[in-house]
Amino acid sequence: MIPLCDPPRCEAAGCQPALCVGAGLADNDEVFERSVAAIPGGVNSSIRAFSSVGGRPYVVARAEGARVWDVEGNEYLDLVQSYGAIILGHAHPAVVAAVAEAATAGTSYGAPTTREMKLAEAVRERVPSCERVRFMNSGTEATSTAIRLARGHTGRDRVVIFHGNFHGATDALLAAGGSGVATLGLPGTAGVPAGSVAETLVVPYNRVPELDESVAAVIVEPVAANMGLVAPVDGFLDGLRAECDRVGALLIFDEVITGFRLGRGGAQGRLGVTPDLTTFGKVIGGGLPIGAVGGRAEVMGSLSPLGPVFHAGTLAGNPIATAAGLAALDLLDDAVYGLLEERVARLSRRLTEVCAEAGLAASFPTVGTLMGMYLGDGATPTDFAAAKTTDEAAYARFFHAMLAEGVALAPGAYEAIFVGLAHDDAVIDRIVDAASRAARIAANG
Ligand SMILES: *Cc1c(COP(=O)(O)O)cnc(C)c1O
Repeated sequence: MIPLCDPPRCEAAGCQPALCVGAGLADNDEVFERSVAAIPGGVNSSIRAFSSVGGRPYVVARAEGARVWDVEGNEYLDLVQSYGAIILGHAHPAVVAAVAEAATAGTSYGAPTTREMKLAEAVRERVPSCERVRFMNSGTEATSTAIRLARGHTGRDRVVIFHGNFHGATDALLAAGGSGVATLGLPGTAGVPAGSVAETLVVPYNRVPELDESVAAVIVEPVAANMGLVAPVDGFLDGLRAECDRVGALLIFDEVITGFRLGRGGAQGRLGVTPDLTTFGKVIGGGLPIGAVGGRAEVMGSLSPLGPVFHAGTLAGNPIATAAGLAALDLLDDAVYGLLEERVARLSRRLTEVCAEAGLAASFPTVGTLMGMYLGDGATPTDFAAAKTTDEAAYARFFHAMLAEGVALAPGAYEAIFVGLAHDDAVIDRIVDAASRAARIAANG
C-alpha cells in the first residue's frame, strides 16, 4: 500500500497536516494504477483522462489559488480550475469558511433551508429572467430538468440543439448530427437509445434554424465554451428569440459555464437577450456540486409540486453547496469581473505574441472573462465545423510542453481556458513565459 498520508513526515516536509492528502509522499504512476484498477479508466469524468493528448493524468493532492499540487509534490499553475467551477481561486478562504461553518450544522436535511432561499434570491437579483429558481446537483441535472420542463410545459416533444454545444450527460441532448446539415436523432454515444434522441434536432451553431410548432425548446450555449470559445455572431441570439416566439417554443440558455462568469448577469446580462429558462452549474456552487434551473414564474410553475412536471432530489439545495455558492456570488461584483476581463485580454494578447514569435499558428479568442485556443491557420471559428480544424496533434505537444513547464491546461483541444481571481499579473507572466518555450516545441512537430 502507498502511504497516502504520513503526518510526521508531512510536518517535517513543512506541509500542514490538516491539508495534507499525500503531497510529495506518493507516486503518480502508482496511485493512478490503483485508481485504474478500481475506477473505469481511473477517472470519474471521462474528459479528465489524457486520451486525446496521451500519457496519464497527474493525481491532485491539493490546490490553493492558481496552483495545484500532485501527489509527488509537483506544482502547476492551473488553467483548468475545475473546468470553470472555480473562479475565486482554489480553496478561497471565504468559501472554505462557509463550507466549514455549514458542515457543522449538518450536511443535508430533506427539508427547506434559509441558505437555498438566499441563493435563489441572489440568482433572481442578478439574472432578472429567473423569477423562480430550482436547485439540483449538477449541470447535467439542470439541462435534463429544463428539457423535461419545456416539454411538459409546451406539450411538445421536439428539442433543437447546436453542433459543438455541450449540455452534460443528458440522454436527449447526447445526439450526434451530420456536420453542416440539420440531422434528427442519431445517438451521440453508445447506450442512448435511438428513441431518446428521435425528437432531438441538431443544427449548426450561429445560424438561426427555421422552427415549426412541433418544437418545445431550443437549448443553446449563448457563448459556446465547449468547442474552444465561439462567440455568437450578431443577430444569432436575437434571431433565436424571435423564431422561438414565432412558433411558441421556449428558448433555454445553457449558462452552466457563462453564468456568473461572464458577469453578474451571465451571458444574457452581457448580450441583452432574454431566455425563458436558464440552466446553471459550475460557478454557482463555488466549486461544490450544484445545478439550477431558473426562468419565468409561469414556466417554472409547471414544475412539481405546482405543476405536472416531476422533479425531486435527495440532496438538491444542499446546505454545503448553497453555502459555498452564496459565498462565491457575494464576492463577484462588477469590479472583479472588470479585473478578470483585463487579465484575460492581456493573457490572450501575450499568448498570441509569443506563439507568433515561436512560429506556432494560434489564436486565443476571448469573450469578456472567457478565452479559447485554436492551433492552425484557420480564421477564428464561428461554428463546430471550423472549430474542428484546430490542430489536435499540435495541441497535444503544447499541452505536454506546458505541463513540463509547470502549467496545467485541460487535456483536450476543445476546452476553454479558465482565468480566475487568483491569476494575478505574476502568475500570468509565468504562464506566458512557459508558453514562449512550449510554443517552440509545439511548432516543431
Ligand atoms: C459542464 C457543462 C454542463 C454539465 O454540467 P455538469 O455539472 O458537469 O453536469 C452542461 N452545460 C454546459 C454548457 C457545461 O459546460
